[in-house]
Amino acid sequence: MKFEENKNLKSLNTFGIKSIAKYFISIKNKSELIDLYNNEIFKNNKIFVLGSGSNILLPDYFDGLIISIDILGIEVSEENDKYSLKVQSGENWHKFVEFTVDNNYYGLENLALIPGKVGAAPIQNIGAYGIEQKSFFHSCEYFNLEDGNFYTLTKEECDFSYRNSIFKNKLKNKALISEVIYKLNKHPDYNITYNELKNAFEGKKFDAKDIFDLVCSVRNKKLPDPKLLGNSGSFFKNPIVKISEEKDLKKPFSELKYFENDENSIKISAAWLIESVGLKGYRIGDAGVSENHSLILVNYANASSKNIIELANYIIDNVFKKFGIKLEMEVNLI
Ligand SMILES: Cc1cc2nc3c(=O)[nH]c(=O)nc-3n(C[C@H](O)[C@H](O)[C@H](O)COP(=O)(O)OP(=O)(O)OC[C@H]3O[C@@H](n4cnc5c(N)ncnc54)[C@H](O)[C@@H]3O)c2cc1C
Repeated sequence: MKFEENKNLKSLNTFGIKSIAKYFISIKNKSELIDLYNNEIFKNNKIFVLGSGSNILLPDYFDGLIISIDILGIEVSEENDKYSLKVQSGENWHKFVEFTVDNNYYGLENLALIPGKVGAAPIQNIGAYGIEQKSFFHSCEYFNLEDGNFYTLTKEECDFSYRNSIFKNKLKNKALISEVIYKLNKHPDYNITYNELKNAFEGKKFDAKDIFDLVCSVRNKKLPDPKLLGNSGSFFKNPIVKISEEKDLKKPFSELKYFENDENSIKISAAWLIESVGLKGYRIGDAGVSENHSLILVNYANASSKNIIELANYIIDNVFKKFGIKLEMEVNLI
């Protein structure tokens, strides 16, 4: 097995944080996982599973083994009313979505341009523009890092909710997702509930490629490109509150910005909360709140994870003091 030692992970995390890993290995097929499980370096070290590093904050030094998931492959099979796509966990998510759009496998078009690998998509149940991956997720296979066996989980067993799943709870640090099966529609059933999509398409003729292109163009305009300015997308989750509590919140803060969640709860815009405490564009050294999008924390040059955490805690404290709402981090602290 080819382990690298003292590997610099700066180019392997979108925050662009300099982080050194004691050991690093790239896994390109499933049989390598069995070999890895039997290796002394695996047995004697703390393990972290790495995708594209677009939703993590790494420490200066990781005293353990980083397993980079680079298993590739997509298999398509046709069923009565669906296409079944078995996707290996190292595939790039956006390229996978593009592949589905190019082939008229419908459903994932709203999830274009989300950075990361397919194996990470179920971890926080990625979502954007009115859709979460759970709507098309069928099942996944994972390698149990504790007993060295492969298991399958159904959608129900994954316990998906907003930016959450079993992999962030009961199976945290225990499961390495090796492949995911998505079931996609043979006929379009577009979701254009999100304002930007509704405004562009309602009452007009459009197709999946139009949605895909619009989502890409809006995202390119709105979000900082990690290649130019280190970031991990939304740093915090939008807090969910019960509608009964929301009535109390709206009285003192009449301009509270929120989205519908379900019949009992709403999602408050965390970006709005951060802006309301005057922290849009705020900076502590090289760690900053984006000037264009206050939910995104950025690394201007040489921020360390400590700097980013200090800034995040400052935001959490200020929002809590004003609104009594505790922001939760979406990014995984390693
Ligand atoms: C500019 C930008 C925009 C973004 N926009 C969105 C968005 O719109 N919606 C959204 O939901 N997210 C968004 N994100 C967050 C990110 O893209 C997703 O969370 C993505 O799924 C992370 O994938 P990754 O491969 O980079 O995972 P990593 O960051 O490498 O890992 C994230 C977590 O998943 C675990 N993990 C990764 N792969 C596996 C695996 N195979 N098995 C087990 N565990 C694994 C890691 O251990 C870690 O805990 C954005 C990020 C950026 C930088």
